[in-house]
Amino acid sequence: MFVLCEFVASHRKVFTLSTGLANVPCHQIYPEGMYTRKIAEPASFSEYLTTFKKTIKSVFNEKKNTEKLFHERVFPPSVLKDIMTTRPLSVGIPKEFGGRGAEVKECLGILDAASYESLPLSLTLGINIALFLEPVAKYGQESVKADVFSRFLNQQSMGGLMITEPDYGSDALNMQTSNVKIGSEYHIKGTKHWQGLTGLADYWLITSRQKRDSGELGRDIDFFICDVQQPNQSIKIEEYYNNIGLYPIPYGKNIVDIQVPEQFKLEPESTGLKMMMDLLHRSRFHFPGMGMGFIRRNLDEAIKHCTTRIIGGKPLIAMDQVKHQISKVQSAFTVCSAMCSRSAAFSGIVNNLASEGIEANSMKAYITDLMQESAQTVMQLSGANGYKVESIGSRAIVDSRPFQIFEGSNEMLYTQISEMVLKLMNSQKTMNLSEFLMNYKLTKNVADHFKSILNFKIDLNNTQRKNVDLGKIISRIISANFVAELGIKGFRQDLIKNSIETIKHEISMLVSSYKFETKVIPIEEYHHSSNWLTL
Ligand SMILES: Cc1cc2nc3c(=O)[nH]c(=O)nc-3n(C[C@H](O)[C@H](O)[C@H](O)COP(=O)(O)OP(=O)(O)OC[C@H]3O[C@@H](n4cnc5c(N)ncnc54)[C@H](O)[C@@H]3O)c2cc1C
Repeated sequence: MFVLCEFVASHRKVFTLSTGLANVPCHQIYPEGMYTRKIAEPASFSEYLTTFKKTIKSVFNEKKNTEKLFHERVFPPSVLKDIMTTRPLSVGIPKEFGGRGAEVKECLGILDAASYESLPLSLTLGINIALFLEPVAKYGQESVKADVFSRFLNQQSMGGLMITEPDYGSDALNMQTSNVKIGSEYHIKGTKHWQGLTGLADYWLITSRQKRDSGELGRDIDFFICDVQQPNQSIKIEEYYNNIGLYPIPYGKNIVDIQVPEQFKLEPESTGLKMMMDLLHRSRFHFPGMGMGFIRRNLDEAIKHCTTRIIGGKPLIAMDQVKHQISKVQSAFTVCSAMCSRSAAFSGIVNNLASEGIEANSMKAYITDLMQESAQTVMQLSGANGYKVESIGSRAIVDSRPFQIFEGSNEMLYTQISEMVLKLMNSQKTMNLSEFLMNYKLTKNVADHFKSILNFKIDLNNTQRKNVDLGKIISRIISANFVAELGIKGFRQDLIKNSIETIKHEISMLVSSYKFETKVIPIEEYHHSSNWLTL
Protein backbone atom coordinates (compact mmCIF):
# COMPACT_ATOMS: atom_id res chain seq x y z
CA MET A 1 0.00 0.00 0.00
CA PHE A 2 2.63 2.55 1.00
CA VAL A 3 4.61 1.98 -2.18
CA LEU A 4 1.47 2.73 -4.18
CA CYS A 5 1.30 6.04 -2.38
CA GLU A 6 4.87 6.89 -3.34
CA PHE A 7 3.94 6.16 -6.90
CA VAL A 8 0.71 8.10 -7.06
CA ALA A 9 2.26 11.10 -5.43
CA SER A 10 4.41 11.56 -8.49
CA HIS A 11 1.84 10.36 -11.07
CA ARG A 12 -1.21 12.17 -9.89
CA LYS A 13 -3.00 12.41 -13.21
CA VAL A 14 -3.00 8.72 -13.97
CA PHE A 15 -4.20 7.77 -10.53
CA THR A 16 -6.96 10.35 -10.58
CA LEU A 17 -8.15 9.14 -13.97
CA SER A 18 -8.21 5.51 -13.05
CA THR A 19 -9.79 5.82 -9.62
CA GLY A 20 -12.45 8.29 -10.60
CA LEU A 21 -11.39 10.57 -7.74
CA ALA A 22 -11.84 13.54 -10.03
CA ASN A 23 -10.74 16.97 -8.77
CA VAL A 24 -8.80 15.47 -5.87
CA PRO A 25 -5.11 15.58 -6.70
CA CYS A 26 -3.41 12.51 -5.32
CA HIS A 27 -0.65 14.48 -3.63
CA GLN A 28 -3.37 15.85 -1.35
CA ILE A 29 -4.59 12.37 -0.52
CA TYR A 30 -1.10 10.93 -0.01
CA PRO A 31 1.36 13.75 0.76
CA GLU A 32 4.65 13.26 -1.02
CA GLY A 33 7.31 11.52 1.02
CA MET A 34 4.75 10.31 3.59
CA TYR A 35 5.38 6.70 2.72
CA THR A 36 8.85 6.95 1.25
CA ARG A 37 11.00 3.99 2.16
CA LYS A 38 14.42 2.76 1.11
CA ILE A 39 14.57 -0.58 -0.66
CA ALA A 40 17.77 -2.54 -0.18
CA GLU A 41 19.73 -2.88 -3.43
CA PRO A 42 20.49 -6.48 -4.41
CA ALA A 43 24.18 -7.26 -4.46
CA SER A 44 24.75 -8.32 -8.04
CA PHE A 45 23.18 -7.34 -11.35
CA SER A 46 22.09 -10.89 -12.11
CA GLU A 47 20.29 -11.09 -8.78
CA TYR A 48 18.71 -7.70 -9.41
CA LEU A 49 17.65 -8.70 -12.92
CA THR A 50 16.09 -11.93 -11.66
CA THR A 51 13.88 -9.98 -9.23
CA PHE A 52 12.92 -7.52 -11.97
CA LYS A 53 12.07 -10.30 -14.44
CA LYS A 54 10.01 -12.19 -11.86
CA THR A 55 8.03 -9.04 -11.05
CA ILE A 56 7.25 -8.07 -14.64
CA LYS A 57 6.43 -11.63 -15.63
CA SER A 58 3.87 -11.87 -12.87
CA VAL A 59 2.27 -8.44 -13.45
CA PHE A 60 2.01 -8.78 -17.21
CA ASN A 61 0.62 -12.28 -17.06
CA GLU A 62 -2.11 -11.54 -14.54
CA LYS A 63 -5.37 -11.72 -16.47
CA LYS A 64 -6.88 -8.57 -14.99
CA ASN A 65 -3.81 -6.63 -16.11
CA THR A 66 -3.46 -8.05 -19.62
CA GLU A 67 -7.06 -7.12 -20.44
CA LYS A 68 -6.54 -3.56 -19.19
CA LEU A 69 -3.27 -3.23 -21.10
CA PHE A 70 -5.00 -4.04 -24.40
CA HIS A 71 -7.62 -1.35 -23.94
CA GLU A 72 -6.45 1.37 -21.53
CA ARG A 73 -4.21 4.25 -22.39
CA VAL A 74 -2.19 4.15 -19.17
CA PHE A 75 -0.30 1.45 -17.33
CA PRO A 76 -2.73 0.30 -14.63
CA PRO A 77 -1.36 1.99 -11.47
CA SER A 78 -0.94 -1.36 -9.72
CA VAL A 79 1.21 -2.62 -12.63
CA LEU A 80 3.48 0.39 -12.64
CA LYS A 81 3.63 0.40 -8.85
CA ASP A 82 4.88 -3.20 -8.73
CA ILE A 83 7.43 -2.53 -11.47
CA MET A 84 8.75 0.76 -10.14
CA THR A 85 9.15 -0.76 -6.67
CA THR A 86 12.05 -2.75 -8.13
CA ARG A 87 13.66 0.59 -9.07
CA PRO A 88 14.53 -0.25 -12.68
CA LEU A 89 15.68 3.32 -13.35
CA SER A 90 18.50 2.94 -10.82
CA VAL A 91 20.54 1.40 -13.67
CA GLY A 92 20.66 4.82 -15.36
CA ILE A 93 21.86 6.72 -12.27
CA PRO A 94 25.54 7.17 -11.30
CA LYS A 95 26.76 5.29 -8.22
CA GLU A 96 27.69 8.46 -6.34
CA PHE A 97 23.99 9.42 -6.39
CA GLY A 98 22.76 6.05 -5.16
CA GLY A 99 22.21 4.40 -8.55
CA ARG A 100 23.76 1.31 -10.08
CA GLY A 101 26.27 3.32 -12.12
CA ALA A 102 24.80 4.00 -15.61
CA GLU A 103 26.54 0.90 -17.00
CA VAL A 104 25.26 0.33 -20.54
CA LYS A 105 25.26 -3.44 -20.02
CA GLU A 106 22.86 -3.09 -17.10
CA CYS A 107 20.68 -0.53 -18.91
CA LEU A 108 20.35 -2.82 -21.93
CA GLY A 109 19.75 -5.82 -19.65
CA ILE A 110 16.75 -4.07 -18.08
CA LEU A 111 15.40 -2.90 -21.46
CA ASP A 112 15.80 -6.44 -22.83
CA ALA A 113 13.95 -8.02 -19.89
CA ALA A 114 11.16 -5.42 -20.09
CA SER A 115 10.60 -5.72 -23.85
CA TYR A 116 10.08 -9.49 -23.60
CA GLU A 117 6.91 -8.76 -21.64
CA SER A 118 5.98 -5.32 -22.97
CA LEU A 119 7.55 -3.06 -25.59
CA PRO A 120 5.75 0.02 -24.18
CA LEU A 121 7.29 -0.69 -20.77
CA SER A 122 10.73 -1.03 -22.31
CA LEU A 123 10.28 2.22 -24.25
CA THR A 124 9.11 3.98 -21.08
CA LEU A 125 12.29 2.88 -19.30
CA GLY A 126 14.37 3.64 -22.41
CA ILE A 127 13.04 7.20 -22.61
CA ASN A 128 13.89 7.76 -18.94
CA ILE A 129 17.35 6.22 -19.17
CA ALA A 130 18.66 7.37 -22.57
CA LEU A 131 16.77 10.61 -23.05
CA PHE A 132 16.87 11.96 -19.52
CA LEU A 133 19.02 10.23 -16.87
CA GLU A 134 22.18 9.64 -18.93
CA PRO A 135 22.20 13.16 -20.43
CA VAL A 136 21.73 14.66 -16.95
CA ALA A 137 24.45 12.40 -15.52
CA LYS A 138 26.85 13.51 -18.27
CA TYR A 139 25.94 17.16 -18.85
CA GLY A 140 23.93 18.26 -15.79
CA GLN A 141 25.42 20.78 -13.35
CA GLU A 142 26.62 19.12 -10.14
CA SER A 143 24.48 21.39 -7.95
CA VAL A 144 21.20 19.94 -9.30
CA LYS A 145 22.04 16.28 -9.79
CA ALA A 146 21.55 14.99 -6.24
CA ASP A 147 17.98 16.21 -5.95
CA VAL A 148 16.96 15.06 -9.43
CA PHE A 149 18.39 11.56 -9.04
CA SER A 150 17.00 11.20 -5.54
CA ARG A 151 13.49 11.91 -6.86
CA PHE A 152 13.92 9.15 -9.47
CA LEU A 153 15.20 6.71 -6.87
CA ASN A 154 12.85 7.45 -4.01
CA GLN A 155 9.72 8.98 -5.50
CA GLN A 156 9.47 7.11 -8.81
CA SER A 157 9.84 10.31 -10.80
CA MET A 158 10.00 10.01 -14.58
CA GLY A 159 11.59 12.15 -17.28
CA GLY A 160 11.47 12.59 -21.05
CA LEU A 161 12.91 14.66 -23.88
CA MET A 162 11.24 17.43 -25.88
CA ILE A 163 12.72 18.04 -29.32
CA THR A 164 9.97 17.68 -31.93
CA GLU A 165 7.71 20.61 -32.85
CA PRO A 166 4.63 20.53 -35.07
CA ASP A 167 6.52 22.23 -37.94
CA TYR A 168 9.98 20.84 -37.21
CA GLY A 169 10.39 17.07 -36.84
CA SER A 170 13.08 15.62 -39.13
CA ASP A 171 14.15 19.23 -39.54
CA ALA A 172 14.69 19.60 -35.77
CA LEU A 173 17.68 21.94 -36.07
CA ASN A 174 15.31 24.66 -37.24
CA MET A 175 13.15 24.35 -34.12
CA GLN A 176 11.48 27.61 -33.07
CA THR A 177 11.34 27.13 -29.29
CA SER A 178 13.42 29.96 -27.89
CA ASN A 179 15.24 30.84 -24.68
CA VAL A 180 16.08 34.26 -23.31
CA LYS A 181 18.16 34.83 -20.18
CA ILE A 182 16.55 37.27 -17.75
CA GLY A 183 18.60 37.73 -14.57
CA SER A 184 19.53 34.26 -13.33
CA GLU A 185 16.69 32.51 -15.14
CA TYR A 186 16.01 31.36 -18.66
CA HIS A 187 12.59 32.04 -20.14
CA ILE A 188 11.77 29.20 -22.55
CA LYS A 189 8.84 29.46 -24.94
CA GLY A 190 7.52 27.27 -27.73
CA THR A 191 5.31 24.36 -28.77
CA LYS A 192 6.49 20.74 -28.73
CA HIS A 193 4.58 17.62 -29.70
CA TRP A 194 4.74 13.81 -29.69
CA GLN A 195 6.76 13.66 -26.46
CA GLY A 196 6.68 10.21 -24.86
CA LEU A 197 5.22 10.46 -21.30
CA THR A 198 3.33 13.69 -22.03
CA GLY A 199 1.51 14.71 -18.84
CA LEU A 200 3.12 11.86 -16.91
CA ALA A 201 6.76 12.92 -16.65
CA ASP A 202 7.86 14.99 -13.67
CA TYR A 203 10.99 16.16 -15.50
CA TRP A 204 11.71 17.17 -19.08
CA LEU A 205 14.82 17.96 -21.01
CA ILE A 206 13.67 20.80 -23.23
CA THR A 207 15.58 21.86 -26.32
CA SER A 208 15.51 25.43 -27.58
CA ARG A 209 17.54 28.07 -29.43
CA GLN A 210 18.85 31.26 -27.89
CA LYS A 211 16.85 34.35 -28.93
CA ARG A 212 19.15 37.28 -29.69
CA ASP A 213 18.28 40.93 -29.00
CA SER A 214 17.48 41.25 -32.74
CA GLY A 215 14.82 38.54 -32.32
CA GLU A 216 16.80 36.07 -34.45
CA LEU A 217 17.38 32.57 -33.14
CA GLY A 218 20.95 31.30 -32.70
CA ARG A 219 22.09 28.17 -34.60
CA ASP A 220 23.14 26.20 -31.51
CA ILE A 221 20.73 24.08 -29.43
CA ASP A 222 20.45 24.54 -25.65
CA PHE A 223 19.06 21.92 -23.26
CA PHE A 224 17.25 22.75 -20.01
CA ILE A 225 15.96 20.53 -17.22
CA CYS A 226 12.35 21.41 -16.44
CA ASP A 227 10.83 20.23 -13.15
CA VAL A 228 7.08 20.48 -13.68
CA GLN A 229 6.45 20.60 -9.94
CA GLN A 230 8.28 23.93 -9.59
CA PRO A 231 6.49 27.28 -9.85
CA ASN A 232 6.61 28.73 -13.38
CA GLN A 233 7.68 25.39 -14.84
CA SER A 234 4.43 23.57 -15.47
CA ILE A 235 3.78 22.49 -19.05
CA LYS A 236 0.34 23.03 -20.53
CA ILE A 237 -0.96 20.04 -22.46
CA GLU A 238 -3.10 21.36 -25.27
CA GLU A 239 -4.14 17.98 -26.60
CA TYR A 240 -3.57 14.25 -26.02
CA TYR A 241 -3.00 12.21 -29.19
CA ASN A 242 -4.72 8.94 -30.07
CA ASN A 243 -1.62 6.85 -30.81
CA ILE A 244 -2.50 3.57 -32.57
CA GLY A 245 -0.03 1.54 -30.53
CA LEU A 246 2.16 1.94 -27.44
CA TYR A 247 -1.15 2.41 -25.62
CA PRO A 248 0.19 2.96 -22.10
CA ILE A 249 2.49 5.81 -23.19
CA PRO A 250 0.76 9.19 -23.36
CA TYR A 251 1.64 11.50 -26.29
CA GLY A 252 0.35 14.98 -27.08
CA LYS A 253 0.97 18.63 -27.76
CA ASN A 254 2.85 20.61 -25.10
CA ILE A 255 2.84 24.36 -24.70
CA VAL A 256 6.11 25.46 -23.14
CA ASP A 257 6.22 28.84 -21.40
CA ILE A 258 8.48 28.38 -18.40
CA GLN A 259 11.23 30.01 -16.35
CA VAL A 260 14.16 27.83 -15.37
CA PRO A 261 17.02 28.78 -12.98
CA GLU A 262 20.38 28.92 -14.79
CA GLN A 263 21.83 25.93 -12.95
CA PHE A 264 19.28 23.73 -14.73
CA LYS A 265 20.92 24.35 -18.11
CA LEU A 266 22.98 21.41 -19.41
CA GLU A 267 26.65 22.22 -19.96
CA PRO A 268 28.04 20.98 -23.27
CA GLU A 269 31.72 20.00 -23.62
CA SER A 270 31.91 22.13 -26.78
CA THR A 271 28.73 23.08 -28.68
CA GLY A 272 25.12 22.27 -27.90
CA LEU A 273 24.81 20.64 -31.32
CA LYS A 274 27.63 18.20 -30.51
CA MET A 275 25.99 17.48 -27.15
CA MET A 276 22.73 16.75 -28.97
CA MET A 277 24.46 14.39 -31.41
CA ASP A 278 26.25 12.61 -28.53
CA LEU A 279 22.92 12.22 -26.71
CA LEU A 280 20.94 11.07 -29.76
CA HIS A 281 23.65 8.67 -30.92
CA ARG A 282 23.86 7.11 -27.44
CA SER A 283 20.11 6.69 -27.48
CA ARG A 284 20.33 4.99 -30.90
CA PHE A 285 22.96 2.64 -29.44
CA HIS A 286 20.34 1.70 -26.79
CA PHE A 287 17.68 0.63 -29.33
CA PRO A 288 19.01 -2.96 -29.47
CA GLY A 289 18.20 -3.25 -25.74
CA MET A 290 14.53 -2.55 -26.51
CA GLY A 291 14.70 -4.78 -29.60
CA MET A 292 16.30 -7.70 -27.77
CA GLY A 293 13.49 -9.01 -25.58
CA PHE A 294 10.92 -8.02 -28.20
CA ILE A 295 12.56 -10.09 -30.94
CA ARG A 296 13.27 -13.00 -28.57
CA ARG A 297 9.56 -13.01 -27.63
CA ASN A 298 8.56 -13.02 -31.31
CA LEU A 299 10.96 -15.89 -31.94
CA ASP A 300 9.63 -17.89 -28.96
CA GLU A 301 6.02 -17.26 -30.03
CA ALA A 302 6.74 -18.24 -33.64
CA ILE A 303 8.48 -21.48 -32.65
CA LYS A 304 5.80 -22.34 -30.07
CA HIS A 305 2.96 -21.73 -32.51
CA CYS A 306 4.53 -23.44 -35.51
CA THR A 307 5.55 -26.55 -33.59
CA THR A 308 2.04 -27.03 -32.14
CA ARG A 309 -0.26 -25.90 -34.98
CA ILE A 310 -1.02 -28.92 -37.15
CA ILE A 311 -1.78 -28.38 -40.85
CA GLY A 312 -2.38 -31.41 -43.09
CA GLY A 313 -1.28 -33.76 -40.32
CA LYS A 314 2.06 -32.02 -39.76
CA PRO A 315 3.22 -29.13 -37.60
CA LEU A 316 3.52 -25.86 -39.52
CA ILE A 317 7.26 -25.82 -38.97
CA ALA A 318 7.63 -28.84 -41.24
CA MET A 319 7.06 -26.51 -44.21
CA ASP A 320 10.13 -25.07 -45.86
CA GLN A 321 8.70 -21.55 -46.19
CA VAL A 322 7.81 -21.50 -42.49
CA LYS A 323 11.34 -22.61 -41.62
CA HIS A 324 12.68 -19.80 -43.81
CA GLN A 325 10.47 -17.18 -42.12
CA ILE A 326 11.38 -18.29 -38.59
CA SER A 327 15.07 -18.50 -39.46
CA LYS A 328 14.93 -14.83 -40.42
CA VAL A 329 13.47 -13.93 -37.01
CA GLN A 330 16.22 -16.06 -35.46
CA SER A 331 18.84 -14.16 -37.43
CA ALA A 332 17.31 -10.91 -36.11
CA PHE A 333 17.76 -12.37 -32.61
CA THR A 334 21.46 -13.01 -33.29
CA VAL A 335 22.01 -9.59 -34.89
CA CYS A 336 20.32 -7.87 -31.94
CA SER A 337 22.42 -9.86 -29.44
CA ALA A 338 25.54 -8.77 -31.32
CA MET A 339 24.47 -5.12 -31.30
CA CYS A 340 23.77 -5.25 -27.56
CA SER A 341 27.20 -6.73 -26.93
CA ARG A 342 28.88 -4.01 -29.01
CA SER A 343 26.79 -1.23 -27.48
CA ALA A 344 27.52 -2.40 -23.94
CA ALA A 345 31.24 -2.25 -24.64
CA PHE A 346 31.29 1.09 -26.43
CA SER A 347 28.41 3.48 -25.77
CA GLY A 348 28.89 4.47 -22.11
CA ILE A 349 28.62 8.10 -21.04
CA VAL A 350 32.41 8.29 -20.70
CA ASN A 351 32.67 8.12 -24.50
CA ASN A 352 31.60 10.98 -26.72
CA LEU A 353 29.53 9.50 -29.55
CA ALA A 354 28.89 12.74 -31.47
CA SER A 355 31.01 11.55 -34.39
CA GLU A 356 29.80 7.92 -34.34
CA GLY A 357 26.85 8.56 -36.64
CA ILE A 358 27.52 5.71 -39.08
CA GLU A 359 27.47 3.10 -36.32
CA ALA A 360 24.61 4.65 -34.30
CA ASN A 361 22.39 5.10 -37.38
CA SER A 362 23.16 1.57 -38.59
CA MET A 363 22.10 0.08 -35.27
CA LYS A 364 18.91 2.10 -34.90
CA ALA A 365 17.67 1.78 -38.47
CA TYR A 366 18.49 -1.91 -38.98
CA ILE A 367 17.24 -3.14 -35.61
CA THR A 368 13.95 -1.27 -35.94
CA ASP A 369 13.45 -2.72 -39.45
CA LEU A 370 14.10 -6.17 -37.96
CA MET A 371 11.67 -5.54 -35.08
CA GLN A 372 8.87 -4.69 -37.51
CA GLU A 373 9.73 -7.59 -39.82
CA SER A 374 9.72 -10.11 -36.97
CA ALA A 375 6.36 -8.77 -35.75
CA GLN A 376 4.89 -9.11 -39.25
CA THR A 377 6.17 -12.70 -39.44
CA VAL A 378 4.60 -13.68 -36.11
CA MET A 379 1.26 -12.22 -37.15
CA GLN A 380 1.33 -13.94 -40.56
CA LEU A 381 2.27 -17.33 -39.10
CA SER A 382 -0.49 -17.01 -36.49
CA GLY A 383 -3.13 -17.00 -39.25
CA ALA A 384 -6.50 -15.40 -38.54
CA ASN A 385 -5.99 -15.47 -34.77
CA GLY A 386 -3.03 -13.16 -35.28
CA TYR A 387 -5.55 -10.51 -36.29
CA LYS A 388 -7.12 -10.34 -32.84
CA VAL A 389 -6.37 -7.15 -30.94
CA GLU A 390 -4.95 -9.22 -28.09
CA SER A 391 -2.62 -11.33 -30.26
CA ILE A 392 1.11 -10.93 -29.66
CA GLY A 393 1.68 -10.29 -33.38
CA SER A 394 -0.89 -7.52 -33.81
CA ARG A 395 0.33 -5.65 -30.72
CA ALA A 396 3.91 -6.14 -31.85
CA ILE A 397 3.21 -4.62 -35.28
CA VAL A 398 1.62 -1.43 -34.01
CA ASP A 399 3.95 -1.04 -31.03
CA SER A 400 7.17 -1.46 -33.04
CA ARG A 401 6.10 0.53 -36.13
CA PRO A 402 6.91 4.03 -34.79
CA PHE A 403 10.44 2.90 -33.91
CA GLN A 404 11.11 3.26 -37.67
CA ILE A 405 9.90 6.87 -37.48
CA PHE A 406 11.07 8.43 -34.22
CA GLU A 407 14.62 9.50 -33.32
CA GLY A 408 15.35 9.93 -37.02
CA SER A 409 13.16 8.29 -39.67
CA ASN A 410 14.96 5.25 -41.07
CA GLU A 411 15.08 6.62 -44.65
CA MET A 412 16.84 9.72 -43.32
CA LEU A 413 19.29 7.65 -41.27
CA TYR A 414 20.12 5.34 -44.21
CA THR A 415 20.70 8.42 -46.40
CA GLN A 416 23.03 9.89 -43.77
CA ILE A 417 24.99 6.60 -43.51
CA SER A 418 25.59 6.70 -47.27
CA GLU A 419 26.56 10.33 -47.29
CA MET A 420 29.06 9.84 -44.44
CA VAL A 421 30.56 6.73 -46.06
CA LEU A 422 30.76 8.39 -49.50
CA LYS A 423 32.67 11.25 -47.91
CA LEU A 424 35.15 8.77 -46.43
CA MET A 425 35.48 6.87 -49.73
CA ASN A 426 36.04 10.10 -51.62
CA SER A 427 38.68 11.31 -49.17
CA GLN A 428 40.46 7.94 -49.47
CA LYS A 429 39.97 7.94 -53.25
CA THR A 430 38.55 4.41 -53.03
CA MET A 431 35.27 4.28 -54.92
CA ASN A 432 35.09 0.47 -55.06
CA LEU A 433 32.73 -0.56 -52.25
CA SER A 434 34.33 -3.91 -51.47
CA GLU A 435 37.82 -2.39 -51.41
CA PHE A 436 36.69 0.34 -49.03
CA LEU A 437 34.89 -2.04 -46.67
CA MET A 438 37.96 -4.33 -46.44
CA ASN A 439 39.86 -1.51 -44.72
CA TYR A 440 37.03 0.19 -42.85
CA LYS A 441 37.18 -0.31 -39.06
CA LEU A 442 33.49 -1.26 -38.74
CA THR A 443 33.45 -3.83 -41.55
CA LYS A 444 36.95 -5.19 -42.10
CA ASN A 445 36.38 -8.47 -40.22
CA VAL A 446 33.62 -9.59 -42.56
CA ALA A 447 34.12 -7.62 -45.79
CA ASP A 448 35.97 -10.51 -47.40
CA HIS A 449 32.88 -12.66 -46.98
CA PHE A 450 30.81 -10.25 -49.10
CA LYS A 451 33.57 -9.48 -51.63
CA SER A 452 31.91 -11.01 -54.67
CA ILE A 453 28.56 -9.19 -54.28
CA LEU A 454 30.03 -5.80 -53.34
CA ASN A 455 32.72 -5.56 -55.97
CA PHE A 456 31.38 -2.48 -57.80
CA LYS A 457 32.06 1.25 -58.01
CA ILE A 458 29.90 3.79 -56.22
CA ASP A 459 28.76 6.90 -58.02
CA LEU A 460 29.14 10.06 -55.94
CA ASN A 461 26.09 11.54 -57.68
CA ASN A 462 23.65 8.83 -56.65
CA THR A 463 19.95 9.65 -56.40
CA GLN A 464 18.60 9.60 -52.84
CA ARG A 465 16.76 6.31 -53.44
CA LYS A 466 20.10 4.71 -54.29
CA ASN A 467 21.70 6.25 -51.23
CA VAL A 468 18.94 4.69 -49.12
CA ASP A 469 19.72 1.26 -50.65
CA LEU A 470 23.42 1.84 -50.11
CA GLY A 471 22.83 2.90 -46.49
CA LYS A 472 20.86 -0.31 -45.94
CA ILE A 473 23.67 -2.39 -47.45
CA ILE A 474 26.33 -0.70 -45.28
CA SER A 475 24.23 -1.03 -42.10
CA ARG A 476 23.84 -4.76 -42.74
CA ILE A 477 27.57 -5.28 -43.29
CA ILE A 478 28.41 -3.33 -40.13
CA SER A 479 25.91 -5.56 -38.32
CA ALA A 480 27.44 -8.71 -39.82
CA ASN A 481 30.73 -7.46 -38.37
CA PHE A 482 29.07 -7.22 -34.92
CA VAL A 483 27.78 -10.78 -35.40
CA ALA A 484 31.26 -12.05 -36.29
CA GLU A 485 32.67 -10.33 -33.16
CA LEU A 486 29.95 -11.97 -31.06
CA GLY A 487 30.97 -15.34 -32.52
CA ILE A 488 34.56 -14.72 -31.43
CA LYS A 489 33.29 -14.01 -27.90
CA GLY A 490 31.80 -17.55 -27.79
CA PHE A 491 28.15 -17.15 -28.91
CA ARG A 492 26.55 -20.31 -30.41
CA GLN A 493 28.34 -20.90 -33.71
CA ASP A 494 25.33 -22.33 -35.63
CA LEU A 495 23.36 -19.15 -34.87
CA ILE A 496 26.30 -17.00 -36.01
CA LYS A 497 26.69 -18.95 -39.25
CA ASN A 498 22.95 -18.85 -40.04
CA SER A 499 22.78 -15.13 -39.31
CA ILE A 500 25.72 -14.24 -41.57
CA GLU A 501 24.13 -16.25 -44.39
CA THR A 502 20.74 -14.57 -43.82
CA ILE A 503 22.37 -11.13 -43.91
CA LYS A 504 24.20 -12.10 -47.11
CA HIS A 505 20.90 -13.06 -48.73
CA GLU A 506 19.38 -9.73 -47.71
CA ILE A 507 22.41 -7.79 -48.99
CA SER A 508 22.27 -9.54 -52.37
CA MET A 509 18.62 -8.44 -52.74
CA LEU A 510 19.54 -4.88 -51.76
CA VAL A 511 22.45 -4.83 -54.24
CA SER A 512 20.06 -5.90 -56.97
CA SER A 513 17.77 -3.00 -56.04
CA TYR A 514 20.75 -0.62 -55.90
CA LYS A 515 21.84 -1.65 -59.40
CA PHE A 516 18.37 -1.41 -60.90
CA GLU A 517 18.15 1.81 -62.89
CA THR A 518 14.92 3.66 -62.22
CA LYS A 519 13.96 7.27 -61.95
CA VAL A 520 10.20 6.72 -61.77
CA ILE A 521 8.52 9.58 -59.96
CA PRO A 522 4.88 9.98 -58.91
CA ILE A 523 2.55 11.89 -61.23
CA GLU A 524 0.83 14.27 -58.85
CA GLU A 525 -1.93 15.29 -61.30
CA TYR A 526 -2.80 11.71 -62.17
CA HIS A 527 -6.58 12.11 -62.14
CA HIS A 528 -7.04 12.75 -65.88
CA SER A 529 -7.64 9.70 -68.14
CA SER A 530 -7.02 7.35 -65.27
CA ASN A 531 -10.51 6.24 -64.24
CA TRP A 532 -10.99 2.64 -65.45
CA LEU A 533 -14.81 3.01 -65.24
CA THR A 534 -14.87 5.63 -68.01
CA LEU A 535 -12.73 3.68 -70.49
C1 LIG B 1 5.51 7.04 -31.05
C2 LIG B 1 6.35 8.27 -31.20
C3 LIG B 1 7.17 8.67 -30.15
C4 LIG B 1 7.89 9.86 -30.22
N1 LIG B 1 8.63 10.27 -29.14
C5 LIG B 1 9.19 11.51 -29.15
C6 LIG B 1 9.80 12.05 -27.97
O1 LIG B 1 9.83 11.40 -26.92
N2 LIG B 1 10.31 13.31 -28.02
C7 LIG B 1 10.26 14.08 -29.16
O2 LIG B 1 10.72 15.21 -29.13
N3 LIG B 1 9.71 13.58 -30.29
C8 LIG B 1 9.17 12.32 -30.33
N4 LIG B 1 8.55 11.83 -31.45
C9 LIG B 1 8.56 12.64 -32.66
C10 LIG B 1 9.46 12.03 -33.74
O3 LIG B 1 10.80 12.08 -33.37
C11 LIG B 1 9.15 12.75 -35.05
O4 LIG B 1 7.85 12.36 -35.41
C12 LIG B 1 10.12 12.39 -36.14
O5 LIG B 1 11.35 13.02 -35.91
C13 LIG B 1 9.61 12.78 -37.52
O6 LIG B 1 9.20 14.12 -37.54
P1 LIG B 1 7.78 14.51 -38.15
O7 LIG B 1 6.73 13.69 -37.47
O8 LIG B 1 7.64 15.98 -38.10
O9 LIG B 1 7.85 14.02 -39.66
P2 LIG B 1 8.45 14.81 -40.89
O10 LIG B 1 9.70 15.51 -40.53
O11 LIG B 1 7.34 15.59 -41.52
O12 LIG B 1 8.80 13.57 -41.83
C14 LIG B 1 7.76 12.73 -42.37
C15 LIG B 1 8.37 11.61 -43.16
O13 LIG B 1 9.07 12.14 -44.27
C16 LIG B 1 10.15 11.31 -44.59
N5 LIG B 1 11.39 12.10 -44.47
C17 LIG B 1 11.62 13.18 -43.69
N6 LIG B 1 12.89 13.58 -43.83
C18 LIG B 1 13.46 12.75 -44.70
C19 LIG B 1 14.76 12.65 -45.27
N7 LIG B 1 15.75 13.49 -44.93
N8 LIG B 1 15.00 11.67 -46.16
C20 LIG B 1 14.03 10.81 -46.52
N9 LIG B 1 12.80 10.84 -46.02
C21 LIG B 1 12.51 11.79 -45.12
C22 LIG B 1 10.12 10.15 -43.61
O14 LIG B 1 9.37 9.09 -44.17
C23 LIG B 1 9.40 10.75 -42.43
O15 LIG B 1 8.80 9.76 -41.62
C24 LIG B 1 7.85 10.63 -31.40
C25 LIG B 1 7.06 10.20 -32.48
C26 LIG B 1 6.32 9.04 -32.39
C27 LIG B 1 5.45 8.61 -33.54
